[in-house]
Amino acid sequence: MGCKSEDELRPSVYSNVIRQFDKAADLMNLDPQIHKILRKTTNEIVVNFPVKMDDGRIEMFTGYRVQHNNVLGPYKGGLRYHPLVDIDEVRALATWMTWKSAIVNIPFGGAKGGIQFDPYKCSKSECERITRRFTFALGNNIGPEYDIPAPDVNTNAQIMAWILDTYLSTMPAHERQACSHVVTGKPVEAGGSLGRDKATGQGVVYTIQEWAKDKNFHLDGAKYIVQGFGNVGSWVSRLMKQQGSKLTAVEDISGAIFNPEGIDPDGLNDYARTKKGIKGYPNTKEIDHKAFLSVKADIFIPAALENQITADTAPLLNIKLLAEGANGPTDPGGDKILQTKGIDVLPDILCNAGGVVVSYFEWLQNKRSEFWDLEEVDQKLRRILTNAYDRVRDVAEKFNTDWRTAAYIVALRRLETVYKERGIFP
Ligand code: NAD
Repeated sequence: MGCKSEDELRPSVYSNVIRQFDKAADLMNLDPQIHKILRKTTNEIVVNFPVKMDDGRIEMFTGYRVQHNNVLGPYKGGLRYHPLVDIDEVRALATWMTWKSAIVNIPFGGAKGGIQFDPYKCSKSECERITRRFTFALGNNIGPEYDIPAPDVNTNAQIMAWILDTYLSTMPAHERQACSHVVTGKPVEAGGSLGRDKATGQGVVYTIQEWAKDKNFHLDGAKYIVQGFGNVGSWVSRLMKQQGSKLTAVEDISGAIFNPEGIDPDGLNDYARTKKGIKGYPNTKEIDHKAFLSVKADIFIPAALENQITADTAPLLNIKLLAEGANGPTDPGGDKILQTKGIDVLPDILCNAGGVVVSYFEWLQNKRSEFWDLEEVDQKLRRILTNAYDRVRDVAEKFNTDWRTAAYIVALRRLETVYKERGIFP
């Protein structure tokens, strides 16, 4: 009996990334030396830190920051607060960030971070102290020209403002004004960009519009279903409504709801914010997870967590297009089934890149002391994503491959070129 591989012993999100990466690298003949470099993360920071809770107890928390690669520019990526955050997940998310920035041609590398805890079980002031203490523990491992965090699952503009304030408070007074770009996704009043809040959802919709143009498919009247109704899912839902499309089913942590006649995303957004979930929204029927995945629709937009579309769940899908708002919603087993079913895929590293693109705009505005209007942000975002979409489509045709692999090839070609130009020190 042979030894079990690392993957067999510990199935992981990062092993999905590596399988996707190796597939693309083989197909494009990526230089084996560059392959070796990109297969590893550069820095993995794990910090354990104490926080005083409201009742006076001290709790220990574990936070992570993984920096995958910075050959194209400063490390960049979100922070996630979730009980399942671990080093494997953060490694995967950091690596996807490197590919994403490379595909859309922005001068950033890839990073990701998070804290392993459930923010719904903490008060607002506990959450603030956890955020500030984590920022302090990271110290100079983040910085405006070095590594720039942003929001992800269960983090938002308020949390970015606390990070900013903590980071600046530890700087010499005369350097503070020059450092507001240490974090993006800030509230607009605190140096954020117009359009950052909706950017990921907006980007998903721009790429869906490009797909629709290519396929001569009419979004007006098309049916879509959405998993996750937080930042990404709620914005995608509201922006798809503006295209005349009809939301027929939604799932979040509280459950899944269905109405074949349509669910109003704006009404649902107001409801979900006050009720902390979508469950119980009037004029909808509650359905279970399997029934949600089986709903017949034109487009499915996963916008929650990883590994939702697998060899077990992909057979249930009854859709034409999977537009990945979430990072890593499909594992390699799921991908194979999507291909045999003829379902088109807009892969995460292309489809949800709108967030990092507008984060780049925010970073630029801060550096130049500028403030762009929403029209300018949207226009620039659309141009960048349309160009990236075209690059991925052309590579998919040229290599006769699936879109995820094509997106990887676009990213890896850029990284390979830069490594070859710069060489390896010493
Ligand atoms: P969020 O915290 O705002 O929302 C997450 C949503 O997922 C919530 O509605 C929650 O109820 C739901 N959810 C959680 N667990 C679930 C489960 N088991 N089943 C169904 N629903 C579940 O997070 P977000 O910022 O919208 O991020 C969602 C996804 O999009 C993540 O994969 C994230 O990495 C990705 N993403 C986010 C951004 C961004 O700018 N926020 C950018 C790119 C990619």
